[in-house]
Amino acid sequence: MGPPGAGKGTHADRLAEQAAVPAISTGDIFRAQVAAGTDLGRRAQQYLDSGAYVPDDVTIAMVRERLAEDDARSGFLLDGYPRTLEQAAVLDELLTAQERRLDAVVVLRVDQEVLVRRLLRRAEIEHRSDDTEDVIRRRLKVYADHTVPLIELYGDRGLVHEVDGDGEVAEVRERVLQVAYRLTLAERPIPGA
Ligand code: ADP
Repeated sequence: MGPPGAGKGTHADRLAEQAAVPAISTGDIFRAQVAAGTDLGRRAQQYLDSGAYVPDDVTIAMVRERLAEDDARSGFLLDGYPRTLEQAAVLDELLTAQERRLDAVVVLRVDQEVLVRRLLRRAEIEHRSDDTEDVIRRRLKVYADHTVPLIELYGDRGLVHEVDGDGEVAEVRERVLQVAYRLTLAERPIPGA
């Protein structure tokens, strides 16, 4: 978890690779659906463009389907889900039904002004429709209002691991991987190998 621009996608991919599980990014799935012009993409586009969350029923149905795929059977890393209490409740249900549980919630912490700067820089490179200053501020507010409460929820369960997300990508990556090593969710690379 982490606010827009915190580096969720960047670190999720590496962490998932190290833990040998798929990284499932709801934002990436939505963008791919928009690009492919599917029904789901058409339904999601207006929300993505304005920086609002896609309605829970749409997001939840999509995640249910994705988690039922074969590659998620031995584990998965979620990037950008859950973002609302309702989404978290459904995730609990899904996991309980399969007698599985969350191992950890990694929260990337980054200062708001650093985030805005990063996202504006990304806008120049990637041209994402939601990386304009107005929409960025909206996304940060939506995150604070709807998603920050989940940190407390998972914190009460002892699952939260906060990582300082400020610094070079390689530095932050190392901090994220240290959490995974500590919890033995990922194997430590053999030195020199
Ligand atoms: P960021 O975290 O930088 O906003 P993402 O790629 O994770 O980037 O998400 C982009 C957009 O996709 C969000 O602003 C939202 O519209 C939609 N989205 C992604 N995940 C969810 C979710 N779990 N619930 C609702 N909307 C979502």
